[in-house]
Amino acid sequence: MQIYKKNTLRVYNTTSGKKETFTPISEGNVGMYVCGPTVYSNVHLGNVRTFMSFDVMYRYLLHLKYKVRYVRNITDAGHLTDDGDVENDRFVKQSKLEKLEPMEIVQKYTVDFHKVLQEFNFLEPTIEPTATGHIIEQIELTQRMVLDGFAYESKGSVYFDVLAYNEKGLNYGELSNRNVEELFVNTRNLDGQNEKKNPQDFALWKNASPQHIMQWPSPWGNGFPGWHLECTAMSTKYLGKNFDIHGGGMDLKFPHHECEIAQAKASFGHSPVNYWMHTNMLTMNGLRMSKSTGNYILPNELLSGNNSFFEKSFDANTVRFCFLQAHYRSVLDISNDAMVAAEKGFHRLMEGISLLDKLNTSTASTLHIDTWKEQCYTAMNDDFNTPVLIANLFEGIKYVNLVNDKKETLTAVDIALLKETLTAFTFDVLGIKNSQTSNNSSIKLNGVLEMLITMRNEARINKNWALSDEIRDKLAALDIELKDGKEGTRFSL
Ligand code: AMP
Ligand code: ZN
Repeated sequence: MQIYKKNTLRVYNTTSGKKETFTPISEGNVGMYVCGPTVYSNVHLGNVRTFMSFDVMYRYLLHLKYKVRYVRNITDAGHLTDDGDVENDRFVKQSKLEKLEPMEIVQKYTVDFHKVLQEFNFLEPTIEPTATGHIIEQIELTQRMVLDGFAYESKGSVYFDVLAYNEKGLNYGELSNRNVEELFVNTRNLDGQNEKKNPQDFALWKNASPQHIMQWPSPWGNGFPGWHLECTAMSTKYLGKNFDIHGGGMDLKFPHHECEIAQAKASFGHSPVNYWMHTNMLTMNGLRMSKSTGNYILPNELLSGNNSFFEKSFDANTVRFCFLQAHYRSVLDISNDAMVAAEKGFHRLMEGISLLDKLNTSTASTLHIDTWKEQCYTAMNDDFNTPVLIANLFEGIKYVNLVNDKKETLTAVDIALLKETLTAFTFDVLGIKNSQTSNNSSIKLNGVLEMLITMRNEARINKNWALSDEIRDKLAALDIELKDGKEGTRFSL
């Protein structure tokens, strides 16, 4: 299969801090690894934004006719909280809180994650490996690093020796541009009380206390793997010791991805990844969306309208459209206004697309559809610039309206090209769900509900409490809740 316009895609590489021409290791094939969720609780909208950015990159690579092996893992063990305390393992903590087995926690939130992805029309990765399914690989890597002097055992745990790594001329901190040498001068642990030689050393394997439920036998006793190691084990197992793209949110650059580079260089002698790609954060009230601070909204709270942040519910296509109106490397602050504007824009795009089949053909074109199509590709080839692509799609919709209003003309061939390009970029690349019918039904349902709210308001003005209560109760029986507030009555589905 021919790659569409080979060597025109440029991607921003965190390593160089520049946009680079994308050249895969094996022509026509792409290996891409994205750090998946830690399934100890529900994913929030911030997580969804990051996964959506990579979903669109995956979609575009497929659109260009690359054969992509897309690996996105599930972290189902070994993710300690920042203090590194074993007893603070997120899964163990959550299982105590919910009175469930850690593996019940993993199952519950993996199912939730998949449900969210389906709602937002994500393509499935080609491999979705789990940390617990790759314990043997992680033990083998750890053994190799101990053998080669890159790691040491301490009280049943194994740590990566950052100082030894740097003394071998390797450079811990290369991705995030940190000078760890300076840190060593100030923080070297001389008293030997600590398990680690240096605070910068990170766990490859952690000793588990007898009551720790998730543990596996190893050459160092029973324990569980450190979080960073799973991604090295799984990415290199499925994509090779050197692969094309590795992605994740910006917050994973350090220490997670820095540790991955160190582990791979120590184990295989070279850097594992050609293009490191990092997404920027979704913020709310100007602050990063995060579970730990409580500044977050869950996807279903947004979709159902069951929250106090947004004035109404929004559908998954609108959320997707809103997210993709920002470039993946820019911060996006979610707000009611942004969602309302996205909803309007999205409907305008859909209305334009629905007119395509009704356009009259002419014997000559007065618009340059070829040039416009190229601009769509240029936008996406410029580091997946979805906001510029969306601006181009609106330009395409402008053409549709001009031809529909008989102000411009297009030949049958150009109308077909306009349609093919608009629909391919909207549905295949941006991942908008092409359910004209379900979209229509949701618009109709909203219309019917607004009509019932108006009838109920009239009943209340006329003091016809029986009718107003009946409307509210019958909707409640259908799980549709009406909320009366300052700005009028809102509904949540
Ligand atoms: P976690 O389950 O915490 O490892 O997060 C899964 C992914 O979501 C990681 O790539 C994070 O970098 C990303 N992420 C976390 N918070 C946000 C946010 N507020 N905006 C965008 N991405 C985020
Ligand atoms: Zn990872």
